[in-house]
Amino acid sequence: MEFDLFVIGAGSGGVAASRRAALHGARVGIAEAGRVGGTCVNRGCIPKKLFSYAAGYGDAFREAQGFGWEETQPSLRWRDLVAAKDREVARLNQVYEGLLQSGNVQLLRGRARLRDANTIDVDGQTVRARHILLATGGHAVVPEVEGEELGFTSDAAFDLPALPKRVVVVGAGYVAVEFASIFRGLGVAVTVVHRADRILRGFDDEVRTFLADEMRKKDIAFRANQSVKRILRKGTALQVQTDANEMLQADGVLFATGRTPNTGDLGLDAVGVRLNERGAVQVDADSRTSVPNIYAIGDMTHRKQLTPVAIAEGRAVADVLYGPGGRALNYELVPSAVFSLPAIGTVGLTEEEARARHGNVDVYRSSFRPLRHTVSGSDERALTKLVVDPASDRVLGAHMVGPDAGEIIQGLAVALTAGATKAQFDATLAIHPTAAEEFVLLRTKVAPKAA
Ligand code: FAD
Repeated sequence: MEFDLFVIGAGSGGVAASRRAALHGARVGIAEAGRVGGTCVNRGCIPKKLFSYAAGYGDAFREAQGFGWEETQPSLRWRDLVAAKDREVARLNQVYEGLLQSGNVQLLRGRARLRDANTIDVDGQTVRARHILLATGGHAVVPEVEGEELGFTSDAAFDLPALPKRVVVVGAGYVAVEFASIFRGLGVAVTVVHRADRILRGFDDEVRTFLADEMRKKDIAFRANQSVKRILRKGTALQVQTDANEMLQADGVLFATGRTPNTGDLGLDAVGVRLNERGAVQVDADSRTSVPNIYAIGDMTHRKQLTPVAIAEGRAVADVLYGPGGRALNYELVPSAVFSLPAIGTVGLTEEEARARHGNVDVYRSSFRPLRHTVSGSDERALTKLVVDPASDRVLGAHMVGPDAGEIIQGLAVALTAGATKAQFDATLAIHPTAAEEFVLLRTKVAPKAA
């Protein structure tokens, strides 16, 4: 088994990189220990978004009454939702396998391990390769607390045997926030326990506060500045004790307490692939590791843990090695969404980052009731926000909380990537009536925050 490039891990990054390299004419093999498609397809983006759609119907059934629909009392068949999700994931597994096949990439099923800088062992089979690409992703970590085994991570959340009536979500990152919204939308009583004073560290402060307020309106409870001390079984139910000595009653506990790179048992140490202080594989701007012919991409490098980033990094490696050369990724303009209810969409700098970097910045903001909710009876509000550099008039950041925020911000990401100015936003005509039009109608600067 001789390859120009051997990829370890057929997830978002590995599949994209291997196909691109083969397209450039390289002989490419890929090892996958689990199901082709990786985290995103099997236990990340895709099942999560499907569950989020399911959760959205909870509100939609209620809100429809404002538009004249007769009241109904729909109930969820959880097992049917899980089965529908399984069917779609299985279909995508097939699609991804087909992509490898049609892309001329040889798939080796099994766990891969480096033997030396050019030799890989895949479940007893020896493979030799000139270049190696590591793309093994990451996995959820659970804090060491008494009774931790009574909880579950997002992996298992997609396949719970039954929908719990009460869930405690531990954590405040995007996975925690999304699952809190999913469970609540499906009718579960949800309490979020988190260590910091606010959810979603790293997002724009106003967005963080706004979303938490909206989630509270939907009866999601928060326990800020607290962590879980122990989990106890009480009959068929659970008790979650926080370090503030509160006892929360639950039927399920979701640990969404972060993820760590899959670097164990890969033979990295022996071959000399160095890790950084976060336990991620250390790479340069071309994703090259400390061993010159070994590259690493995606979640295991802990840059931005998102599928489109892993894909772009993977393709860039293939282009550097066998194509026209890679294009450096601009990590500051990576758009992203949080599929909470309501959703967040964001691209560019937060107000806080922009102030730290540019000193003075102009902020434009609109908080409003979307047209739909003037009739639906819901008191949900939306937020749009632009952060502008007054010196250049460039829009540094665009943020939104509201329905379809991800869809809307994807379009604005094109504008920001093209270097759009506030004057160009102002010159853009609105599409009326939409929530997105707020972004081209923002005219009044928000007074600067008191120092
Ligand atoms: P992965 O996709 O994790 O692929 C790694 C692959 O390597 C796996 O298939 C694994 O089985 C395999 N592997 C590991 N070790 C070995 C070995 N030794 N030998 C052989 N194979 C091995 N991102 C978004 O952009 N949008 C979202 O909405 C989103 N939602 C998410 C929701 C959840 C709950 C989670 C957990 C993640 C979500 N992500 C989302 C993140 C996204 O899934 C990851 O950023 C992306 O999958 C990273 O791709 P990757 O190629 O680095 O790794």
